[in-house]
Amino acid sequence: MIRTKGRACTGKRRHDTEDQAEDHRQSLIAQGAVRLTTYRCRNRACRGWHVGHLPKPRT
Ligand SMILES: [Zn+2]
Repeated sequence: MIRTKGRACTGKRRHDTEDQAEDHRQSLIAQGAVRLTTYRCRNRACRGWHVGHLPKPRT
């Protein structure tokens, strides 16, 4: 298993498609999590989709 820092696979659910990641995101939102986003994994060993947190907006 490859360990990488930052926006990677560690401890995250992997989804094959953006739709699946979006489903997961919606279920997390239903549990009260907000400010989540789906993103394509940059790990070439993964190439899946993940749900991550958006950075805090600067106001
Ligand atoms: Zn990944």
